[in-house]
Amino acid sequence: MRNSKIYTKIIYSNAPQTELDEWIGNYGKGKVFIATEENVNQLLHPVFGDYFDNQNIRKVILPSGENSKSMESVVKVWEFLSRNGADRKSLLINIGGGMLTDLGGFAASTFKRGIDFINIPTTLLSQVDASVGGKTGINFNGLKNEIGVFENPVAVIINTEFLRTVNRENFLSGFAEMIKHGLIRSTDHLEELKSLDLDNVDYNNLLQIIQNSVNVKEYFVVNDPTEKNIRKGLNFGHTIGHAFESLAMEQNRPVHHGFAVAWGMIAEIYLSVKQCGFNEEESDELTRWLLDIYGKFPLEENDFGQLLELMAHDKKNESDKIYFSLLSEPGKVKINQICEKELIVEALNYFKALN
Ligand code: NAD
Repeated sequence: MRNSKIYTKIIYSNAPQTELDEWIGNYGKGKVFIATEENVNQLLHPVFGDYFDNQNIRKVILPSGENSKSMESVVKVWEFLSRNGADRKSLLINIGGGMLTDLGGFAASTFKRGIDFINIPTTLLSQVDASVGGKTGINFNGLKNEIGVFENPVAVIINTEFLRTVNRENFLSGFAEMIKHGLIRSTDHLEELKSLDLDNVDYNNLLQIIQNSVNVKEYFVVNDPTEKNIRKGLNFGHTIGHAFESLAMEQNRPVHHGFAVAWGMIAEIYLSVKQCGFNEEESDELTRWLLDIYGKFPLEENDFGQLLELMAHDKKNESDKIYFSLLSEPGKVKINQICEKELIVEALNYFKALN
């Protein structure tokens, strides 16, 4: 059908079958397929019952985990589609976390030069971030997201029922991206996140809060789909966060993406104070809140050189200068901020000394 390449319809609903019915009706019989992964496959029945079986919708099930975000898995999806007679008017429904929606989106976008796909994200990170915004891809040659294309799903269906089984680390990982959305664009959203009881989440209420978060991401994506300009605002916390994440990986103590981003945000709030006039009291309060939720990433002074290297080689940097998206105040982000190495080291020392 390829009817909506530019705009994705984002549907917030705890009755995903009803929503799917409308979409599936647009495609021919036998032309709708599912890609999912092992862990999520166990969770489909409680949410969808016999819906997919009753409609004879076939599915390909990949192993769970980041290692599956590979060329080998893409080939499995392509083979599955080919074998089952998918054509250019087929639809692929990707059901899973960010690993699966990135991979499934890429497989769909390249099969027969691109077929429609719908994402049904099942982790908080994929609901508020990965499944929205058109970035699809796989890891290659040991490099994250090395191969991929920008392509939008025709629809994303967000359903908080899936989140009941997401473990605390994965939940908090997605929550960090929501905090980022509040900090770069919406103080109202930030306040509602501060008042959320993380030990006793009300999943019905959460659907609206997720919607508020996705609205922020959509604002940046719609105005700058291929990240030439304001979409860079979404990278707040990520320049130092990605360096923490890569260092942790190299030191064999991997951390969840959102934790690294939360720690990155603490260090980049420090840079925001020094470089963009961010209020110091607000900075202290936010740092305390983030530390309470995410604890601290143990850091040695020996690591600083490697962290700077990682930042300089981040694929989002265009030269040997290190670019940041920083805050002038809560809710306001400033892109293309170049920070001197001395100031970055100061921020790392500040982070290291926190307790
Ligand atoms: P993931 O998909 O690997 O899911 C994390 C774990 O949760 C897995 O073990 C998975 O099996 C399990 N899981 C999934 N749904 C569950 C559920 N409902 N209940 C219980 N367990 C469940 O990882 P993720 O954290 O969702 O996403 C990380 C991926 O997203 C990375 O590959 C990252 O590069 C990508 N990402 C992409 C974008 C983008 O813009 N495209 C943005 C952010 C992250």
